[in-house]
Amino acid sequence: MNDMTSGRGWAQIDLGALRGNVAALRAKAPGAAFMAVVKADAYGHGMVPCARAALEGGADWLGVATPEEALALRAAGVGGRVLCWLWTPGGPWRECVEADVDVTVSAPWALEEAVAAARAAGRTARVQLKVDAGLGRNGCQPDQWPALTAAARAAEKADLIKVTGLWAHFSCADEPGHPSIARELGVFRTALDQAAAAGLDPEVRHIANSPGTLTLPESHFDMVRPGVAMYGISPVPQVGGPADFGLRPVMTLAARLASVKQVPGGHGVSYGHRYVTPGPTTLALVPLGYGDGVPRHASGAGPVLVAGKWRTVAGRVAMDQFVVDLGGDAAAAGDEVLLFGPGDRGEPTAEDWARACGTIAYEIVTRIGGRVPRVYR
Ligand code: PLP
Repeated sequence: MNDMTSGRGWAQIDLGALRGNVAALRAKAPGAAFMAVVKADAYGHGMVPCARAALEGGADWLGVATPEEALALRAAGVGGRVLCWLWTPGGPWRECVEADVDVTVSAPWALEEAVAAARAAGRTARVQLKVDAGLGRNGCQPDQWPALTAAARAAEKADLIKVTGLWAHFSCADEPGHPSIARELGVFRTALDQAAAAGLDPEVRHIANSPGTLTLPESHFDMVRPGVAMYGISPVPQVGGPADFGLRPVMTLAARLASVKQVPGGHGVSYGHRYVTPGPTTLALVPLGYGDGVPRHASGAGPVLVAGKWRTVAGRVAMDQFVVDLGGDAAAAGDEVLLFGPGDRGEPTAEDWARACGTIAYEIVTRIGGRVPRVYR
């Protein structure tokens, strides 16, 4: 035990696995640059340590959603190229330009803000233009794209911006064979041709997220942009698990039992008594709850490895704790419990939790909260 693992719960983060995953993903897209997506605190794994490990593992770029995330990377002394993509009016764009962060623009008004940020900073803003190939989020609508690229080219000629990238994001790449994949690739290719006709010649063109990186070589263009696969989670569990793609899960969520006690049959467990003991039994208390990111949907469903066996969350997950029924098995307060991990010790995986909770493994790891210390190795 160290200071962290003697506590009630912790997330062990295997940075060696992360570096290995970057290498495995790079090998799927030879010739393409690699952007490691580290937004949302690196999907719950810790943004700065994961960003550093990804760069050590061979990533060329870091990708984040918000300008605040990009600036936090710089404040921590993380170098390399950083792209952020969630433009909101009045954001800290001047600070991004000053911190050498590439920013994503999808609309003329955002381009105007980027130009204003460049003027205020007294330097050229590095801008990537995003087209909505079909996802329906914040990319530029294809019919507005020629006007946006022309305006960007004009700002480029005035040395106010440099267009460093052109990109889009898939809607259904995790559903192999979905007709939108080919359609969106077609929209993206047309957008690239139109940008070239406007005179833009960026460093990188990119659309491939994790499923694109792993299953769609035709989507690799100049750069791939995976997130979840870098954390060792399969983006297409219906096709294969992490090991099938040469990936290893990075996060293990563990805890120590807070109490173990004998109760009679007919004993209600947790709020609402959704579980009642079927006979005399042993109840163990796991001191993690939805305040730590354990989904309340895991009530009566989430799998946990306790005393060498899988057990299911008994009754409701509370804010700070949940209960498992150990039946006749022995355990003691302080015993280690594994919620999920790579599976080497027989523990469930984040994918098992996702299935039990009716969600995706992305959400299981990303929601593990700030109250749970990360232990890096
Ligand atoms: N690119 C963008 C714009 C994203 O928002 C995300 C994540 O949602 C990614 C790439 C990485 O996606 P994935 O985790 O599926 O690889």
